[in-house]
Amino acid sequence: MSFVANSTLAAPDTYFGIYNELSKYNVHLNIFERLWASWYAYMQNDVLATGIMSFVMHEAVYFGRSLPWIIIDRISYFNKWKLQGQKIPTVKEQWACTKLVLLSHFTVELPQIWLFHPMAVSCGMDTGVPFPSWQTICVQIAIFFVLEDTWHYWMHRLFHFGFFYKNVHKIHHQYSAPFGLAAEYASPIETMVLGAGTVVVPIVFCLVTGNFHVLTMYLWIAARLFQAIDAHSGYDFPWSLHHFIPFWAGAEHHDVHHERFIGNYASSFRWWDYLMDTEAGPEAAKERRERKLAKEAKKAKKAQ
Ligand SMILES: [Zn+2]
Ligand SMILES: [Zn+2]
Repeated sequence: MSFVANSTLAAPDTYFGIYNELSKYNVHLNIFERLWASWYAYMQNDVLATGIMSFVMHEAVYFGRSLPWIIIDRISYFNKWKLQGQKIPTVKEQWACTKLVLLSHFTVELPQIWLFHPMAVSCGMDTGVPFPSWQTICVQIAIFFVLEDTWHYWMHRLFHFGFFYKNVHKIHHQYSAPFGLAAEYASPIETMVLGAGTVVVPIVFCLVTGNFHVLTMYLWIAARLFQAIDAHSGYDFPWSLHHFIPFWAGAEHHDVHHERFIGNYASSFRWWDYLMDTEAGPEAAKERRERKLAKEAKKAKKAQ
């Protein structure tokens, strides 16, 4: 990275030594930008620097976000907001799930994360400093949420067809009452296909616009992990997001999918299931029945 040239005069060899040196010559950078730039300068290997940062970030967010849900499962006060009554996951179940998720992270996700830097650079992704503005980051992440949700809806719907369900998606449906940790409990094929919505969408966006920073990718993945883990949490609180943003899917939406296996295929939003008439649950079924009856009555009236 070009700015490192300024900071190599004293050639500090510790991370904070580099940070202090770099800070002297780059006063215009904020603390996060300095930490970021020092990391790349310290590593002296951009592929390794991005690889380690991405993997650690993914594990920290995944287990960090799952932990509060594990604790909530052990506190009976919260039971009243559990979507599927008393189906609290046991410690044994959660541990079995953690083991498979970790295995998948190290065997399926790690190699992909490692290839990310060369691929990102070849697509023109920015890895340097300064960072993009927070407005740019927010707009791009909002676009990714909408596009990923579309990809997820159609691929997930496809996964519910006989062959794909039996051979790929069934693993994810092992828990009919899901919990946070089960968000990435899935076959490697499913992880790759559904994960493409999270990873390929920003890459295509970068190729088309030529304006994309790796930091935005990290924040997007963190936001998407929060969404996926919360959707599997099994709890619907009065303060859950979908009570304030009616088209946000949340746990209430995805929990019914795990309970009934049919309907509610989207990830973040409710509009695809609404538009395609695939909403799950007794209420949606009742509405569908009523609509059908009204249609038949109208037809019969016309025929008279
Ligand atoms: Zn499913
Ligand atoms: Zn699920």
